[in-house]
Amino acid sequence: MRQPFIAGNWKMFKTIAEAKEFAEAFKNFEITSGARVAFCAPYIQLETLVKAFSGSEIGIGAQNMHFENEGAYTGEISAGMLKEIGVDYCIIGHSERRQYFAETDETVNKKLKKAFEAGIGPIMCVGENLDEREAGNAFDVVKVQLEGGLAGIPESDVEKLVIAYEPVWAIGTGKTATAAQANEMCAFIRSEVARLYSRETAEKVIIQYGGSVKPGNAAELMAMEDIDGALVGGASLVPADFIKIVNFKEEEK
Ligand code: 13P
Repeated sequence: MRQPFIAGNWKMFKTIAEAKEFAEAFKNFEITSGARVAFCAPYIQLETLVKAFSGSEIGIGAQNMHFENEGAYTGEISAGMLKEIGVDYCIIGHSERRQYFAETDETVNKKLKKAFEAGIGPIMCVGENLDEREAGNAFDVVKVQLEGGLAGIPESDVEKLVIAYEPVWAIGTGKTATAAQANEMCAFIRSEVARLYSRETAEKVIIQYGGSVKPGNAAELMAMEDIDGALVGGASLVPADFIKIVNFKEEEK
């Protein structure tokens, strides 16, 4: 049984004061679904969130990191710097970073290797855009992203990997992939991990769906066999919305 994993991606939202306010509100809620929960926030809020949630099961993640230990890379943050302040996770290769910040499968690969080396849990994002889906290329695009991103990564690391399938056309658009569409791709991702490594490892990998996940559709998505969690953008910014997604089993009723 894979433990469900629901992570919020705050993108470039919230000040430190707002992050503190969020944490105080969210701490009052009980997690009844048994899900693992994490918040991936802008760098500047990470230390505040680590402190605010210390002693709880809630993990804290960054949204990006550099693949070198240190160096003349103005504006960048290393995995070691994240580790120093107690960060648990890092999103790697989000489509917004691929689209606006020249992230490639090669940089994703280097960052994944560095994250594993530093003891940061990577959440690797893959997903096709609308043109690619309409042209019937969605599976090929994701296959290439997986092969490139995972090149040379040992099986012992891959079994700890979280992969987020985020179709670009469903992000921030209010247009969710149907549960069947999302599950079809998540099952494909699992079969690719099995092909590249083994079925045993593929069964351990946590595969999240991301793209307009809301309280109203979380239960249906989470009920699908190969969807183990969600990476939530907009709906993770409001404590009362996010807890409903985290406790998706109650929403089912
Ligand atoms: P939305 O939930 O706002 O569509 O964002 C999804 C996403 O990009 C999470 O990483």
